[in-house]
Amino acid sequence: MTTTRKKTAGARLERYRRKRDFTKTAEPRGARARRRTRALRFVVQKHAASHLHFDLRLELDGVMKSWAIPKGPSVVPRVRRLAMEVEDHPIAYNSFEGTIPEGEYGGGTVMLWDRGTYEPTGGGGAAALREGYAKGKLDITLHGERLHGGFTLVRTRGEGERVQWLLIKRTDEHASRAKQLVTSETRSVKSGRTMAEIAKDGLTD
Ligand code: MN
Repeated sequence: MTTTRKKTAGARLERYRRKRDFTKTAEPRGARARRRTRALRFVVQKHAASHLHFDLRLELDGVMKSWAIPKGPSVVPRVRRLAMEVEDHPIAYNSFEGTIPEGEYGGGTVMLWDRGTYEPTGGGGAAALREGYAKGKLDITLHGERLHGGFTLVRTRGEGERVQWLLIKRTDEHASRAKQLVTSETRSVKSGRTMAEIAKDGLTD
């Protein structure tokens, strides 16, 4: 625990960097993170890799903790969505939208599907998030453009590179049985483009 907390953002991104050839992909390499006091960020990216999925990324300690969610987030209360933990990503990844070349790690089109800030629901800032992450239960409140309110991430099994969690919408005024955001929201929050348009246009930055 203590050693994990003392790791620099650069060391945390080692696994992310090992998987990628930055001479071939336009994804960010990730720079040294500065210490900040403002709100922590989150993003959701829609990623048409070998299997379409949504990547949830939560800022913590200078990196984006990341989960691949095959069916994407649901706002229907108590619906559980499998969330496979993947390597920490650099904060600069938050604005990434474009196409990772075929044959490269994660090759395929990436859309910025949601973005905003988040906080631990019970307060306590980054310390509460670190504790929740270590325990395998994160109660968070999202303030996104599409996702709002309380969500819980629960670790169910796995170690090392195959850790599984569930993402669950908690019951609150933002939960809805009628909404299927993953299918109704088909455009980027950054560029307004569809997946097909991003694939055709290529990079925005
Ligand atoms: Mn992905």
